[in-house]
Order: sequence, then structure tokens, then C-alpha cells
Amino acid sequence: MRKLAAGNWKMNGLTAALTEIVALCRAHPAPACDMLICPPATLVAQVAAVAQGTGLALGGQDCHSAASGAHTGDVSAAMLKDAGASYVIVGHSERRTDHGETDAVVLAKASAAQAAGLVPIVCLGETEVERDAGETLNVIGRQLTGSVPDTSTADTLVIAYEPVWAIGTGRTPSLQEIAEVHAFLRQRLTARLGTEAAGVRLLYGGSVKPSNAAEIFALPHVDGALVGGASLKAADFGAIVAALSAA
Ligand code: PEP
Repeated sequence: MRKLAAGNWKMNGLTAALTEIVALCRAHPAPACDMLICPPATLVAQVAAVAQGTGLALGGQDCHSAASGAHTGDVSAAMLKDAGASYVIVGHSERRTDHGETDAVVLAKASAAQAAGLVPIVCLGETEVERDAGETLNVIGRQLTGSVPDTSTADTLVIAYEPVWAIGTGRTPSLQEIAEVHAFLRQRLTARLGTEAAGVRLLYGGSVKPSNAAEIFALPHVDGALVGGASLKAADFGAIVAALSAA
């Protein structure tokens, strides 16, 4: 399995930020892991042009569940693919919170992505209240059941475990807690997808940075990271790519 370092730029990045893409690709021309940036939709085509011929893959941050139609302001999976994307994040906690996305909505988006030939990165994660109540595995299990298409294979699905309280806060679960959730995810996926589950990449996300990346990547069933803040600067994201390549 090739591991995956995925950067989520969220609602950050104007044309000037393309210099970070150039620097990242120069510093990591042939990384030993897959390297992905999900810029805002406005930059996907430009980043694809800059990244052409390099080892950098492109992704969207969300897609609509419909292939086209009267959905003002939305972007379809086919549009992202047309602009040069090969992945799309779905069900990020900021979408679940800001836009009320349910598991059913996330499932529809993941299915639309797969139908369009994009690999969905399906995000799951508990809130702090849920963790404190001892509900983490119940929440993750429910989200996994409700958000992941049944027909997924190792090549058409990536899962990102992102505790909501760890996103952008500088806080992370303990290594043991991360390992426990990832082992649970692998076990649940195996029950669902059979042997394909062994090849589905399970990313950890939530305040990953150069200083903690190596210890997280050393954990079993951690096959990469979904990185927010630290993906905006080529030097920081490059250090995470290097840590994953060495893991
Ligand atoms: C994210 O947005 O998916 C994320 C993990 O953010 P950060 O790395 O900034 O915590």
C-alpha cells in the first residue's frame, strides 16, 4: 500500500499561494508516499497546471451528490475531475457542522465521487463531548456505517479519522487512542468489505505537524495523514511528507 499525505487548504489560498506548490514539488519530486493537496475549488485547475508532471495529486474539499443541475454555488465531482482532481474530501467535520451534512448526505457525496472516478476521503470523528462520554467508538462506527459506500474497494476509498476537538487546536489524542480507533476502523471495514479492507488507507487528521508526524505514522493502521494548517506551507507539509516516506 502506498501511504498518503493529504493537505486540506480549507478556505485559504489565492493565486500567490501557487509558489508553495512549486516549492513543494521541487523539494519532493518523487516522494515515497502519495502526496495530495486539496486547495479551494478556485485553485484546482491552476494547481493542476503547476503540478503537471510532478508527483503531486490534486483533490477537492467537497462535492455535490448530483452530477450536474440547479445547485447554485456547488461543485460536482465531475467538475473537480475535469479540473484535474483525483480525490475529494467528503464529510469533513466543518462541512458536517457548518452545513448540517448527515451521514446520508456524506454517503451520497462519496458515491457520486466514486461514480465520477474520484477517490473520496471520507472523514469521521467524535466531538470532545462524545469522547468524554466514552462514545468515541460508537460514533465512529455509526459514521462509518452511514457514510461509506458498500461497493468501495482499496482503490476507491480513503478514510480519515479526525477527532473534531483536535482539528486546528494543537491538541491530539494520545498515540494509544489513535491506534485504538484505527484498529477499530480496520476491523469494521474488514467486516464490511472483506479482503479489500486491508488496502484501504486510514489517515489520521487533527493537528498533525512536523514535530508529531513520525510518532503518529509509526502506529499500526495509520496509513497517512489529512493535514490542515501545516499543509499551507511547503516546508511544513514537505517535512510531513518526508516523515511518512520514512515510516
Ligand atoms: C483538517 O482540517 O482536516 C485538519 C486536520 O486540520 P489541522 O491539521 O489544522 O488540525
